[in-house]
Amino acid sequence: MDFSLPEDLVAFRTEVRRFVDTELIPHEDYVEEHDGLPDDVKNDLKKKAVALGLNSMDMPEEVGGQGSGLLAQVLVTEELSRALPGVSSSVVPEASNILMACNRQQRERFLYPTVRGDKQDCFALTEPETGSDAAGIKTRAVKEADSWVINGRKRFISHGDSADFAIVFAVTDPESETDRITAFLVEKGTPGFSIGQLHKTMGHRGYRQAELVFDDCRVPDGNILGEVGKGFDLARDWLRNGRIMTAARCLGPMARLIDEALEWSKQRVQFGEPIGNYQAIQLMLADCAMDLYAARMMTYNVAWDTDQGSDFRVLNGKASAVKVFASEALGRVADRVLQIFGGTGYMNEVFVERAYRNARIERIWEGTSEINRLVLARNMLKLGMFT
Ligand SMILES: Cc1cc2nc3c(=O)[nH]c(=O)nc-3n(C[C@H](O)[C@H](O)[C@H](O)COP(=O)(O)OP(=O)(O)OC[C@H]3O[C@@H](n4cnc5c(N)ncnc54)[C@H](O)[C@@H]3O)c2cc1C
Repeated sequence: MDFSLPEDLVAFRTEVRRFVDTELIPHEDYVEEHDGLPDDVKNDLKKKAVALGLNSMDMPEEVGGQGSGLLAQVLVTEELSRALPGVSSSVVPEASNILMACNRQQRERFLYPTVRGDKQDCFALTEPETGSDAAGIKTRAVKEADSWVINGRKRFISHGDSADFAIVFAVTDPESETDRITAFLVEKGTPGFSIGQLHKTMGHRGYRQAELVFDDCRVPDGNILGEVGKGFDLARDWLRNGRIMTAARCLGPMARLIDEALEWSKQRVQFGEPIGNYQAIQLMLADCAMDLYAARMMTYNVAWDTDQGSDFRVLNGKASAVKVFASEALGRVADRVLQIFGGTGYMNEVFVERAYRNARIERIWEGTSEINRLVLARNMLKLGMFT
């Protein structure tokens, strides 16, 4: 059993860490205050991120991505996520990998510019009445001659207000059990497509969510992504890696929280002693270390397994397991570290307070903890416990 990481990956990780420390973290206060970066700063950082090879790591090289394996993506994401997501997500271009289903014409308009970071997409599945039960969406697309008329409402859509186009899931055949839903590419400015409410959220300043409204929005046949009726299959394929990457995004904040807790425990003096001398604090530090260690090993393992081409049915179970474990571990770590910081941890100017608020969403998106537990349990009942 060889757990060593390839040398080139370790070297790249060091470079990414330097980028995060020198280029991203210094902008956190601004993003926290202004809910985003100024355009000139964002564009400058985006160029640097692309030059470093951080854009669309999961996309094949022939479409302009980095063609990296999942373990490489996990290691880089762990480093990037040490910075607040409102900074990193706005400067590191990432195309939804479902865009690989673009046909030749669509690739020029949607895929290549998004992979390069010249365009931004958003993934519009969730609706007011359907979240976890995503197959139950109500947004409807009806065929009229050689176009489709979309009506409905999406909500909680990340980058919904800033995206150049949306990948929109709509029901095209309500009678069909298997081929009900189709994915459409809908560009900003298409008549009948507008941005509704901008959601005010608990955390993730600079990473905004919006409502998307479709009111007799007409798109041509050429804007169908993949095949008619197969939209949900595309979305499902996208889910597994999304769950593993969510786990990876929990590792960075956990590691930074623990670093800060160690530093604080050594320098904060109460009753004449650094608080790190007290066993109550030591127990919390030890629990944090165990959470990070376990979450990291699980996440690296499933990423490595994916790169080995293991059975995707087993990987589905593992992806749910790591997503739940890492997101809940992050919640526990953030809570303990805030406690170690005392009142200082409750103040908005410290990373701990921001990380505590940001952590909460990780248990909700990419399948809630409950849904992922159900996926895992059903997987186990069918295939047994994975090794
Ligand atoms: C910040 C943020 C960003 C998001 N970004 C996007 C995006 O870009 N694109 C997009 O399409 N969506 C996005 N979402 C939506 C997200 O995927 C959903 O919020 C998530 O899937 C949960 O759906 P819901 O909020 O409707 O909760 P619900 O599905 O209503 O669930 C409510 C509660 O019921 C539980 N529950 C539901 N069904 C079951 C069951 N069968 N058994 C046991 N418990 C159950 C859930 O676990 C949860 O605790 C985002 C959400 C947020 C908050």
